[in-house]
Amino acid sequence: MTMQAFDIAVLGAGAGGLFAAGSLSGKNKIIIEGNRKPGLKILASGGGLCNFGNQNISGADYFGANPRFCLSALAGFKPDDFLALLRRNKLPFDARPDGRLFARKSADILNMLLSRIDGKTTRFEYGNKIKKVRKEGGIFEILTDKNIFHACKVICALGGLSRPQLGASRAAYDIAADFGLAVTPRYPALTGIIFDDATRAVCGPIAGISCRARVKCGGRIFTDDILFTHRGLSGPAVFQLSLYGVKGRQISADFLPDTDVSALLAANKTRAQKPSALLQGLLPARLLQALLGGNDAQLANLNKNQIAAVLRALNNFTFTAKDICGYDKAEITAGGVDTKEISSQTMQVRAVEGLYFCGEALDISGRLGGYNLHWAWASAHAAARAINKDL
Ligand SMILES: Cc1cc2nc3c(=O)[nH]c(=O)nc-3n(C[C@H](O)[C@H](O)[C@H](O)COP(=O)(O)OP(=O)(O)OC[C@H]3O[C@@H](n4cnc5c(N)ncnc54)[C@H](O)[C@@H]3O)c2cc1C
Repeated sequence: MTMQAFDIAVLGAGAGGLFAAGSLSGKNKIIIEGNRKPGLKILASGGGLCNFGNQNISGADYFGANPRFCLSALAGFKPDDFLALLRRNKLPFDARPDGRLFARKSADILNMLLSRIDGKTTRFEYGNKIKKVRKEGGIFEILTDKNIFHACKVICALGGLSRPQLGASRAAYDIAADFGLAVTPRYPALTGIIFDDATRAVCGPIAGISCRARVKCGGRIFTDDILFTHRGLSGPAVFQLSLYGVKGRQISADFLPDTDVSALLAANKTRAQKPSALLQGLLPARLLQALLGGNDAQLANLNKNQIAAVLRALNNFTFTAKDICGYDKAEITAGGVDTKEISSQTMQVRAVEGLYFCGEALDISGRLGGYNLHWAWASAHAAARAINKDL
């Protein structure tokens, strides 16, 4: 074991940690990371294209026990500020019509974040799993599985529980709890939903099929692509729904949200055609077959109950979410370090001078579409700005 002292220790070389380290002006900094490489989640983000932000960001895109907590940091660092960094580095990006901002490749974002960090004043310590952080005599002691480091200030950017295979751990929550902070209940979010057993029996065979649908749980409604998996549903519309703790609740799906199926059936009720033929081209044939089952008979022969069953299957397909997919699949962790005890301007723990939290570890979750990475940038920026002022 070695003992070293630094002005600032940044815990975690993920989105928040790297952005904070690149924004800090201190002379003697260290970044401590459990993985052998930085930014593994950034590399995996956006399917390799890193959806690093969104042109339309407001407090309404974020959730948590106190979602207003994010407002100050969002006001201090805007999507345009990140775009300015990309432009300065001559990095191309794509703005999609719905506002989502993508890199051409995720590695561009990671390399830019690394290039902002001054190698002369910053030590990178990879392969160090943080076990504990203590404060004694005004100095923080950071214990890893290999070393003990000392620092005057600590930015805890250790992320959430999602994707342990990419380095995620519960370290941020344990550190918060050791310093007396509350941690709100956590659950995997931006992830797939698992069908109840009966629905799984019907839909399991159509795994791999995707379509546009309107999915609904309680008052939450999302219209976007969905994907049938072996266990349930995945895809953007379902990911958005998973933010609201849907486990055990009833979910309904409208597979033809833009078509008046009832009117279409009524207009063709005397024909020999089957519903699957009538709706051909609107939905994949195998999906129609699975949904319609025994009710896919000639329209002229369908009784009232069968027509109602066809409409239910297509416009109001209901099932119970037996569960949601776990942290190994989820993009984020909802819930986290309680923001009540943290300054929304500086991200500093009110009762512990010099200890800052940023990113996903906090009880702030963004919806799908670049909002979580933007939160990592904005909250890290707020912490770094406060520390720079102090130094
Ligand atoms: C597959 C996938 C795709 C995603 N795509 C997008 C996207 O396109 N757009 C978007 O906005 N969001 C996306 N997200 C979410 C986004 O990546 C995260 O919200 C964001 O990275 C959080 O930043 P963070 O710095 O708080 O945590 P992280 O980026 O997770 O960084 C935390 C770092 O701490 C390290 N660490 C954890 N525990 C320890 C320990 N005990 N000791 C030492 N180091 C430790 C981790 O290895 C990691 O490097 C995606 C997530 C996943 C999993």
